[in-house]
Amino acid sequence: MTPHISVVVPMYNEQDVLPLFVQRLRPVLDGLGVAYEVVAVDDGSADQTPVLLQRFLREWPQLRVVRLRANSGHQAAISAGLSNARGDWIATIDADLQDPPEVLGEMLTVGEAQQADVVYGVRTDRSTDSAFKRSTARGFYTLMRAIGGSGLRMDAGDFRLMSRATVDAVNALPEHHRVLRLVIPTLGFPEAEVGYRRDHRAAGTSKYPLHKMLKLTLDSVTGFSLAPLRLATWFGMGGFVLAAALLAYAVISKIAGNPISGWTSTVVIVAGFAALQLLCLGILGEYVGRIYATQQARPTYYVAYDSLLAAPPERRPV
Ligand code: UDP
Ligand code: MG
Repeated sequence: MTPHISVVVPMYNEQDVLPLFVQRLRPVLDGLGVAYEVVAVDDGSADQTPVLLQRFLREWPQLRVVRLRANSGHQAAISAGLSNARGDWIATIDADLQDPPEVLGEMLTVGEAQQADVVYGVRTDRSTDSAFKRSTARGFYTLMRAIGGSGLRMDAGDFRLMSRATVDAVNALPEHHRVLRLVIPTLGFPEAEVGYRRDHRAAGTSKYPLHKMLKLTLDSVTGFSLAPLRLATWFGMGGFVLAAALLAYAVISKIAGNPISGWTSTVVIVAGFAALQLLCLGILGEYVGRIYATQQARPTYYVAYDSLLAAPPERRPV
């Protein structure tokens, strides 16, 4: 039977929080009164997470474990979950209890009542995040909205509910290094939102060090906007206008019988050609960027084990 809702949970080295998470998520889902599945995506954890998951598998029939071969990152782990989830509705939630599982029911109600295909969890209160996290997050959202991701909701992370149609559309996207919160608004599905209070991480430490945040930002910018490439084009155009103005000035001065001494022509030519080169480079860059993105269709994760298909590792014959 198709589950009514699949809950995708990416987790990386979450041994400390996993038992608490299961303890809180399970009653919520049992209480919904609908068929459900939980797709736990073990993002190549190196701690006791896989062992704990095997233990939970035995006592929680609705749990499914998909283990990735290597640590592939939050977005890739969510993508792996979305590709494997079978539900009519698919929710994604972090394992650290910062996104309260209790909100899932409300998301489902809102999605069904408002016939929305995407229901965003929007953080109404981020006071539990550190000042550093809040300011970097603000910078990220402002930057992304400025360079074209105007569909991005301020303070909507990856806690959301999506319809089957939305997830099918996401799965069908050819682009691999995608940042879901940016891509989903571009699909054009009707959207709604549910506010929630972001809690402290219940246990363990953040799995998002600065370099992962920077990678997310770089993936967001390059995957979503040609603005950096376009910058060369704009510089080129600006330089070109400047050179034209210099030329006009030199010509007018000459006509007015007040010619500027020799350097003008040199400056005009150097500036003009530099601008032209930048312009051409910019245009070239636009195309190279597009080809690169389309061409690089490399998977971002590999599945090592899926509890739906295989016996748990320890029971497999060696
Ligand atoms: N996560 C993951 N792979 C990674 C990093 C993080 O699957 O490489 C998961 C992590 O286990 C958690 C979620 O992504 O369920 C969000 O990570 P975290 O809570 O550490 O990020 P923060 O809230 O600090 O931004
Ligand atoms: Mg967290």
